[in-house]
Amino acid sequence: MCDVTTGAETTGTETTGPEAAGTNRRRFLQILGSTTAASVLTTGTASASGKPRPHGRTRIIPLGTAGGPTIMNPARAGTSTAIVYQDQVYLVDLGLGAYHRLVQSGINPALTPAGNTLGAVCGIFFTHLHSDHVADWPGLYWTAGSNSIGRTAPPIQVWGPGPRQSLPRVFPPGRTAPPVIDPADPTPGTTGMTTYLRQSFAADLNDRARDGSAPDPGGLFQIHDVGLAGIWTPDPGGIPPRLSTPIPVWRNGDVTVTATLVDHHPTAPALAYRFDTPDGSVVVSGDTTVSENLIDLARDTDYLVHEVIDPEFVDRVVGTLPPAQAAPLRAHLLGSHTTIEQVGAEVAEPARARNLVLTHLVPADNPLERWHLAQRGYSGRVAVAADLEPITVCSSEMGGG
Ligand SMILES: [Zn+2]
Ligand SMILES: [Zn+2]
Repeated sequence: MCDVTTGAETTGTETTGPEAAGTNRRRFLQILGSTTAASVLTTGTASASGKPRPHGRTRIIPLGTAGGPTIMNPARAGTSTAIVYQDQVYLVDLGLGAYHRLVQSGINPALTPAGNTLGAVCGIFFTHLHSDHVADWPGLYWTAGSNSIGRTAPPIQVWGPGPRQSLPRVFPPGRTAPPVIDPADPTPGTTGMTTYLRQSFAADLNDRARDGSAPDPGGLFQIHDVGLAGIWTPDPGGIPPRLSTPIPVWRNGDVTVTATLVDHHPTAPALAYRFDTPDGSVVVSGDTTVSENLIDLARDTDYLVHEVIDPEFVDRVVGTLPPAQAAPLRAHLLGSHTTIEQVGAEVAEPARARNLVLTHLVPADNPLERWHLAQRGYSGRVAVAADLEPITVCSSEMGGG
């Protein structure tokens, strides 16, 4: 196997977050709008046999490792994972602060006075459209014309879920349904969302195009809804069907991207992505409870980058509620995410994933020792992702190690 050592155990401005116990239900629901965490693996440059191996071309760079839209730890930006293969950058999700982390990462060409912070980005993949996964997409899109000057690469290919075409059911059952925002189009997909972004910032985009010849961001991206025709039309419950094969998304030279439907019900569609490169494979779960589709997608993968939630945090939050409300809310919240106890034993182990990287940490300020409990029942290696700490990808089949 690759030489992997854990690092960043000192990412540790982490605290147990004393305010968590007093967090009310509303705040917790805000937090769960999205979630993650990380300390990291770094790899050596030679196998145990001393043979040089051709790795170093593929890296995972966590750009943001916090789950949920609530900012709980300044050391962790909103969830986002970069997979870098040679000079190509693939981004999965863009949580709050992730775009700035992309600049900090140094994986794009050096900054110039003209600006080319998107120079190496070739693809962006949204797992689902919760705000903690897309919060930096508007800023990136609107400013792309000014941050792609000198870019000669083809348009950035953007994939994400399509329109849902049904609203999720109301929880708790029996509660009066809240007013629907934009009843004419209440569940736009990735393409629709981006169309609205373009419309909402038309004043700025027209101003810069007419006054400064700034490129139209519409020409810098090609937006795609991951097609589910013949596969699934989400119902209000949002539990996806079992898939027998992965969904093909994109083949870009040496890199193949596939996806599957994961279970983040009632939110749907929710996707996980797999990247296969000549160096190995990386699977990014997005938000999901334990998902057989995800386990299939991650079969024998080299790196499974997976969300995780601490049920003790959930207990602290729902503990502020009467028991009759606390139990169903706890079950509801844990029913759409994966706990520390589940992610290693019930996901990474049956998938035979060689390395498990925890991200989308909920809560983002948990002590690292809580996350390492994911090792129980898992025979591979666990790492807790940290913002901007890279992981080099190499397959166990490579290098003779
Ligand atoms: Zn999330
Ligand atoms: Zn989510």
